[in-house]
Amino acid sequence: MVAAPLVDGYGRVHRDLRISVTDRCNFRCTYCMPVEGMTWLPRSEVLTFEEIERVARVCVERFGVDSIRLTGGEPTVRAHLPALVAKLAALRVGDADAGGDAAVDGGRPIDLSLTTNGATLRTVAPALVDAGLQRVNVSLDTLRPDRFVELTRRDQLDDVLDGIDAALEAGLAPVKINAVVMRGVNDDEIVDMAAFGRDRGVTMRFIEWMPLDADGQWNDRRVVGQDEIVAAIDAVFPLDPIVRGSEPAERFAYRDGRGEVGVIPSVTRPFCSTCDRIRLTADGQLRSCLFAVDETDLRGMLRSGVSDDELAAEVARCVAGKWAGHMIGQVTFVRPRRSMSQIGG
Ligand code: SAM
Repeated sequence: MVAAPLVDGYGRVHRDLRISVTDRCNFRCTYCMPVEGMTWLPRSEVLTFEEIERVARVCVERFGVDSIRLTGGEPTVRAHLPALVAKLAALRVGDADAGGDAAVDGGRPIDLSLTTNGATLRTVAPALVDAGLQRVNVSLDTLRPDRFVELTRRDQLDDVLDGIDAALEAGLAPVKINAVVMRGVNDDEIVDMAAFGRDRGVTMRFIEWMPLDADGQWNDRRVVGQDEIVAAIDAVFPLDPIVRGSEPAERFAYRDGRGEVGVIPSVTRPFCSTCDRIRLTADGQLRSCLFAVDETDLRGMLRSGVSDDELAAEVARCVAGKWAGHMIGQVTFVRPRRSMSQIGG
């Protein structure tokens, strides 16, 4: 099957597929989920590993998607996750631009990664690596035990720190740490977290808080923007900008050579014009944007016996209709019906 790029109406080529494997989570982070009252998807509505693999294979083989990230909810709470990792790690991509054909030339492996809260990595990291996982992003928003309990509503900071060590020991590389920065909550820890990244040999990625919390607590005064984050770090550990590639993070190198730090400025400097992502929710809905208000029901198609051609046409149709950008901060912005944990972060 010859790969052809997945292009939208603005000429953006999509190569990055985010797959949510569950809407369930073992944490209840305040900026993401309510303390209780989440309604979980019935298991029958969640895609099976075979269904996920089929969508992924169509995206990789037909459209040259070459990057897949597993997320959730918390992906590691899904039973037998390594079995899914093994299926996805076996996918091979042809070179879409060169009209490559993975079936003929063997293709190249995809970049397979996972976003996790890290609490169970000590147990699962080795099996994930054996199955073919290459790298991991661990979410950690504070290094203070009392604050960790407030933020996640779980007393598991030590498990997460140990999970980060376990990921490094298992050979996952790079290990990146995602920290959502919120004014008055953890913005006084930016430098401490940067120091943690430098000392531990992991890359910190600070994320601007987005209006995707289940409790509706977000407001723009509580967003700590990239300029403020970078200024705080630069004052203690001088930084030099790294020229931006296609990835969403704005990256900065420590002038003393001890690694780098990044900011994902989704609110103050949206990167919609270079967005190359599509998302598959745990219940099989394809979204062309994190903030999309419409979804394309691939699960219904998968379960009604459609062909790969029909599935591919629907994926292409969804992407073709992608809007220019999310419009956060403008009067036309509409919050998506589902929160981050339900969409897949
Ligand atoms: N449970 C996994 C984890 O903790 O990484 C994966 C799912 S979580 C929804 C994915 C990422 O989304 C995490 O890094 C989390 O901090 C981030 N996130 C959740 N809600 C957010 C929000 N409202 N704004 C920005 N990032 C958010």
